[in-house]
Amino acid sequence: MVEFTFVSGDVALDLAGTVMHRRTDRQDLLTAPADLAGWIAAAGLLTAAPQVDAAGLAAAVDLREAIYRSALNAAHGRPPAPADIEVINRAAVPAPPVPALTAGDTDTGGGGGGMGVRREGDLTGALAAVARAAVELLGGHDARHVKECQADRCTRLYLDLSRRQSRRWCDMSGCGNRAKAAAFRARHK
Ligand SMILES: [Zn+2]
Repeated sequence: MVEFTFVSGDVALDLAGTVMHRRTDRQDLLTAPADLAGWIAAAGLLTAAPQVDAAGLAAAVDLREAIYRSALNAAHGRPPAPADIEVINRAAVPAPPVPALTAGDTDTGGGGGGMGVRREGDLTGALAAVARAAVELLGGHDARHVKECQADRCTRLYLDLSRRQSRRWCDMSGCGNRAKAAAFRARHK
């Protein structure tokens, strides 16, 4: 079972982050249909992992790479490629999962009051939710807050909503801590 992290501040950027270290030792966390099913459930897009076949995985990877390229362009103040816009817009068309309030059901991640949310739908719907998030992010005001992690090897994109736009790492407990520890060692040599 692959461990996924959700630190980007946006589900579309989190999907793009399922390829790690893109410019060095590239590592793809979604190489089998079961990986994608697990990611969808871990992301909270659907309460139960959906059925995924090879074609579904290929569609998700196409969407992921279109989002990655477009968000990277946004981080550098460049417009996305027309072909990538088309992939994202097409994936956004189907209806996203429908959220339903549940009573007395704590296994759906309820926060209190004995209620929770159940999200039902299929892979196409879950990918539509991701594509819609990408549309709102890249087409909205927050596009200029997309940044790339400054840690060595890490190529994760994230949304920097800090007041002073001063965030440098995708994740303080991971990349941020490692970078600070390295700087500390360098100073005390
Ligand atoms: Zn990072």
